[in-house]
Amino acid sequence: MIKRIEHLGIAVDNLESALPIFEALLGSKVYKEEIVVSEGVRTAFLKVGESKIELLEATNKDSAIAKFLAKNKGGFHHIAFEVDNINEELIRLESEGFQLIHATPKSGADNKRIAFLHPKSTKGLLVELCQEKTS
Ligand code: ZN
Repeated sequence: MIKRIEHLGIAVDNLESALPIFEALLGSKVYKEEIVVSEGVRTAFLKVGESKIELLEATNKDSAIAKFLAKNKGGFHHIAFEVDNINEELIRLESEGFQLIHATPKSGADNKRIAFLHPKSTKGLLVELCQEKTS
């Protein structure tokens, strides 16, 4: 079951210059910064009420974020839904005809198991499913 919007992912060319802008915009400080080596991203999280903003900077040129920034100037990148059981949700969504980028969940930032759906099957929207790691 999809429970809520957990965060919105925003691609930025440079985290150092982006942080003060988003901290001023939201009136709150970054509470976590984390590198996800497997995704080639450096992330920073800010709280927005019950949701979050995840800022994403590429750590290498093969990163999905680097490719996104080559096509776009930056800005909105993906929406992340919190789910109660990510394995069940992937099975449900695949049976509904959605194309999965990750057939099995992987380890993501902010203590989450994550998986992405392919934007081809969601009218161009990149969708992340995430579930809090329990241990
Ligand atoms: Zn995300």
